[in-house]
Amino acid sequence: MPVSGLGAYDPDNVFARILRGEIPCRRVFEDDHVLAFHDIRPLAPVHVLVIPKRPYVSFADFSARAGDAEIAGFTRALGRIAATLGLDEAGYRVLSNMGADAGQEVPHFHVHLFGGAPLGPMLAPG
Ligand code: 5GP
Repeated sequence: MPVSGLGAYDPDNVFARILRGEIPCRRVFEDDHVLAFHDIRPLAPVHVLVIPKRPYVSFADFSARAGDAEIAGFTRALGRIAATLGLDEAGYRVLSNMGADAGQEVPHFHVHLFGGAPLGPMLAPG
């Protein structure tokens, strides 16, 4: 059973449909465990989404249920993608929204990779 307040995995969420090839994406990287593609509404000059191929609803779900090799593969892919995009020297931001308070919109675990310009404060003062 998935972990987090998001309920059961919805196999028709937009990222599941991208993984099945039903919706196009601008692919950046793919291996056995991971797909990375450009966000459709970029919030920075580089805004890439990195997702596992297996169905996890959120970071909480992924961190609790994914295997060690899957977690290591995901993390290493994320680092390689950032390096390949040329972001290592200037820097970048990695972010995952988990659940309602974070405003998670798509219920398939994903990490946002932002870069290409100074990104400003981490959160708007609230
Ligand atoms: P969240 O708010 O769940 O952390 O982020 C979901 C992200 O998915 C948003 O930045 C949104 O722009 C992106 N997104 C939603 N639908 C699509 C789509 O069909 N294609 C792509 N490439 N990105 C999408």
